[in-house]
Amino acid sequence: STPGGSRARKEKILVTVRLRPLSKKEQSLKDQVAWECIDDNTIVLNPLSHDRSSSSVQYTFDKIFGPTCPSEVVYEEGAKEVSMSALRGINATIFAYGQTSSGKTYTMRAITESAVNDIYKHIENNSDREFIIKISALEIYNEVVRDLLKPDSGPLRLLDDPEKGTIVEKLEEETARNIEHLRQLIGICEAQRQVGETSLNDASSRSHQIIRLTIESSLRENSSCVKSFVANLNFVDLAGSERASQTNAEGTRLKEGCHINLSLLTLTTVIRKLSDGKKSGHVPYRQSKLTRILQLSLGGNARTAIICTMSPALSHVEQSRITLSFASCAK
Ligand code: ADP
Ligand code: MG
Repeated sequence: STPGGSRARKEKILVTVRLRPLSKKEQSLKDQVAWECIDDNTIVLNPLSHDRSSSSVQYTFDKIFGPTCPSEVVYEEGAKEVSMSALRGINATIFAYGQTSSGKTYTMRAITESAVNDIYKHIENNSDREFIIKISALEIYNEVVRDLLKPDSGPLRLLDDPEKGTIVEKLEEETARNIEHLRQLIGICEAQRQVGETSLNDASSRSHQIIRLTIESSLRENSSCVKSFVANLNFVDLAGSERASQTNAEGTRLKEGCHINLSLLTLTTVIRKLSDGKKSGHVPYRQSKLTRILQLSLGGNARTAIICTMSPALSHVEQSRITLSFASCAK
């Protein structure tokens, strides 16, 4: 049986939605706000927006963060609890899911920063334990895995380890000396990704980025340390969700292959399966690089949060609906 697949899921996935403000460009093009947050949990397509099929569609989630909601609140209510479970030895993953330019990178950077601050606060307040924080980071582009901590490294292979599950061969892992060092290493990963973006114009819409913190903790006993747990905390900035659908914003069917992103499509299938409550047998983790790498941090005894980001603009209403229907399936 596959780890995570056959075990009963203990906790449901935390699913939240973040609406960004209208961009300057959208404002200058007189785009309209198509969505209204009725309360903390409910979002509705504004019936005044001139959308043909706007018959008052309403969606409910664990939390909706409106356009003026600061990232700190998004972290507190959409990611903190799940992130901090890694400090208790439970693997955890935070995803940003949404169409290109909806705010995934903006949100995930802030979430990572806040989580790092909280991790070091926790370390300070728990001096009876020793913590070792390691970082690794990778990008998956067209099912090719690349190291974000090691510039110029070639494609990396995935290997199956009988104990650790799928591992990424030769992936660089650095131990953070302190919080400043960790921030610096995260900065290197983010800069690496930007290099990729400029050389391939739409790389960021097609690639997935994973920053993985590995947290080892042991109880200090006299002068020796007993290793007591190790857990992964993954921050995942996904490819644009338009890569998981057959159609683009205008509803035109695009050529398969050049458009569909296998890892994103497989992830959505895995998340639907994990969420459907029937504990339906086979979860197709092995069908993509992303889901293989994250297998032990998804489902099973792991904790998962998904922050779905969306543009408020009427011009993006179709993609936003697709995002919300994915989010509905995930919860
Ligand atoms: P994505 O990674 O989904 O393609 P980005 O995170 O790059 O999107 O966001 C697109 C643009 O919108 C960026 O200029 C970003 O700074 C801005 N943005 C995104 N979310 C917010 C927000 N909640 N508040 C203010 N600006 C935002
Ligand atoms: Mg991005």
